[in-house]
Amino acid sequence: MSDPTMNQSRRRFVVSSGGAIGVAALASVLSRTAQAADPPFVNPNDANAKALFYIEDATKSTNPKHKPGDDCAICTFFAVSKTKPEAGTCTIFPGKWVHTKGWCATYVKKA
Ligand code: SF4
Repeated sequence: MSDPTMNQSRRRFVVSSGGAIGVAALASVLSRTAQAADPPFVNPNDANAKALFYIEDATKSTNPKHKPGDDCAICTFFAVSKTKPEAGTCTIFPGKWVHTKGWCATYVKKA
């Protein structure tokens, strides 16, 4: 005959062990996701960046469309990074960071 107290104890051990393993696995996946979510910055010499006159420092833009004060930080296509205040995502350059102080000819001031 089995001891019901022993079975409950074993069950608790299995459940808590499974929970710990699950938490460890989740932490590992989140860590890898965070690393994968740290893309490179847009290279201003890339063809797309050149075509859109992307520049990492908007204050140095000589493009006639650029107005003083315009930069990525206040562009409608920009979302600042939660971990890199100097960077953010831009829907025009998916999968890469753009500089907060950058600018390109697609700029549209946030409403
Ligand atoms: S579209 Fe806006 S956020 Fe994206 S690079 Fe151009 S100015 Fe910056």
